[in-house]
Amino acid sequence: MLDSDKCDTKTRVSRYGIMGGTFDPVHYGHLVTAEAVRDEFKLDKVVFVPTGKPPHKKGYKVTDAKHRYLMTVLATVTNPFFEVSRIEIDREGYTYTIDTILEFKKMQPEDTKIYFITGADAVLEILTWKKVGELLRLCNFVAATRPGYEPSQLNEMIKYVEKVHGSTIHMVEVPAMAISSTDIRNRIKANRPIKYLVPESVEYYIMKNGLYR
Ligand code: NAP
Repeated sequence: MLDSDKCDTKTRVSRYGIMGGTFDPVHYGHLVTAEAVRDEFKLDKVVFVPTGKPPHKKGYKVTDAKHRYLMTVLATVTNPFFEVSRIEIDREGYTYTIDTILEFKKMQPEDTKIYFITGADAVLEILTWKKVGELLRLCNFVAATRPGYEPSQLNEMIKYVEKVHGSTIHMVEVPAMAISSTDIRNRIKANRPIKYLVPESVEYYIMKNGLYR
């Protein structure tokens, strides 16, 4: 049980999840991850933040932010605990997580606890991120892993971060993360079905706009 779960609900501080990802496209694996983490860490809300211009994706082709944002809105519309933010896609220049967290913190009461949720492979690179020390102080990290993920490298990194920065990174295995955006894009290119991998509204949006062909 988490410490603040023992408190009176009136004195309990808010806990927000920030679900960071490219979402190219968003799929059921992301939705199940967000809901599982919301439940495990008793989050009041999970805000999906599609990436703007991520520094580590120079040279990669990423679908227009307008489409990734709209697909994320369609996918999350039925969950009252989920929201989608344009905070990164509206930002000029490269987008760094530290700027997102600082901006988000300005909009919330000071004692709001923030959980930054993303894929384990992204978390593995966290030591290269801008102002990592400050970032680790400002929020808790949750790394979602796929079935079969070999955790030894991430475990080493978690130990290092605990020792050097005094921060904890939580690892959560999500069976539904067997679904991947890369596989969905490849399936569409190969004219194979994506039914039941993404919400129907997202599937229709992809077809209507001829994405990933
Ligand atoms: P990515 O390299 O596209 O994805 C890495 C892995 O994580 C993929 O397997 C991906 O699966 C999975 N993944 C991504 N987002 C996820 C989520 N929310 N939940 C569960 N699994 C997820 O990583 P990315 O999407 O570009 O970056 C992830 C986050 O880290 C973003 O918010 C990004 O801004 C942040 N980031 C910040 C910095 C920085 O501040 N310097 C640097 C790098 C990344 P799918 O392909 O199936 O999604």
